[in-house]
Amino acid sequence: MLTEELVQGARQYLMNTYTRYPVGISRGHGTRVYDMEGREYLDFLAGIAVNALGHCHPKVTLAIQKQAQSLLHASNLFYTEPQISLARVLVDHSFADKVFFCNSGAEANEAAIKLARRWAHERDGAGRFEIVSMVNSFHGRTLATLTATGQDKVQKGYEPLPEGFRYVPFNDVEALSQAVTTKTAAVLLEPVQGEGGVWVATQGYLKACRDICSERGALLMFDEVQTGIGRTGRLFAYEHFGLAPDVMTLAKGLGGGVAIGACLATDAVAKVFVPGSHASTFGGNPLACAAAVAVLEVILEDQDILGHCARMGEHFRKSLEDLQGGCPTIKEIRGMGLLIGIEVSCDARELVEGLRKRGVLANATSDRVLRFVPPLIVSQSEIDRVVATLGDVIQASR
Ligand SMILES: *Cc1c(COP(=O)(O)O)cnc(C)c1O
Repeated sequence: MLTEELVQGARQYLMNTYTRYPVGISRGHGTRVYDMEGREYLDFLAGIAVNALGHCHPKVTLAIQKQAQSLLHASNLFYTEPQISLARVLVDHSFADKVFFCNSGAEANEAAIKLARRWAHERDGAGRFEIVSMVNSFHGRTLATLTATGQDKVQKGYEPLPEGFRYVPFNDVEALSQAVTTKTAAVLLEPVQGEGGVWVATQGYLKACRDICSERGALLMFDEVQTGIGRTGRLFAYEHFGLAPDVMTLAKGLGGGVAIGACLATDAVAKVFVPGSHASTFGGNPLACAAAVAVLEVILEDQDILGHCARMGEHFRKSLEDLQGGCPTIKEIRGMGLLIGIEVSCDARELVEGLRKRGVLANATSDRVLRFVPPLIVSQSEIDRVVATLGDVIQASR
């Protein structure tokens, strides 16, 4: 099939929920993907920060193949080894004591919101139920998570929204202090806002979040669906800040391309979930967990992937800053590790288009922010090529 046939098929058979780039992707290898016509692209979007180890990493592929030959699904009415192995690795490498598995980022946040409500109900009664989240955040597309998402555009037309959510501007300690009351069950935020335009929390802000939550009896919940699993140069972004949340959610990079989500919590919080409190038929299935165990083994044991990600992120930023020197179109470069946003004074979507035409995939989180989230295994020369290509695209657009 050709890309054009896929475009036609999508028009005919798919609900029209996405604006897609006119590229039909047939296969991937490492940092590269190939379209239906065989053209190669350098993939600096990585399935929206999902393909953390690039495409078809041999160890992940092998783990999936082996698991598919023995057991794909058994349900959570039984025990399976990959699920326990994955939970153990996550607990051993984080603040958390317990894990709930699901299939996506939205579901992981849905679980976190339910956990916080139940925890607050059990401790303080029905008066403590509010979730405080951030303006410009992104937490998913279920009714509760789109309500937690502080962006009108994802909420419009879905009213009435669930009650008990309020919003504060990101990185504003005073606003948070005013919003967190005896009604607050939890504060939910991304250490680096991804979809909202790559905004990094300040050290002082996260410290204040931690202190305010602890003092006032609310939970601190980090949505690390995008920042987790090495993206920022540490396994979890919170590790950069010298503090820990009570609850954390993961998804995107966790399965290296296989759908999986997780909600992690301390024992004190997790204990309010008892049989029947929450559930997911597919959550923690052997296939997804085997893939995730392989991803974590490669990241934590194989090579120095976290160090490499931190160094490549540093190099990427420096190179972009050099480009910015002679290029007033670039207003600001933000990010952490290999989660990089570039605020531009032109239409970011046009830059994405220009990059694509020159064989580089990226996307725009808004009409002014270009985002790069390459696989963590990206090389320095690949980064150099993308920065040079971006320079050409900006040059050509003026
Ligand atoms: C992508 C994302 C989500 C939603 O994940 P889905 O798997 O699409 O449901 C939630 N939170 C953050 C921070 C994300 O980046």
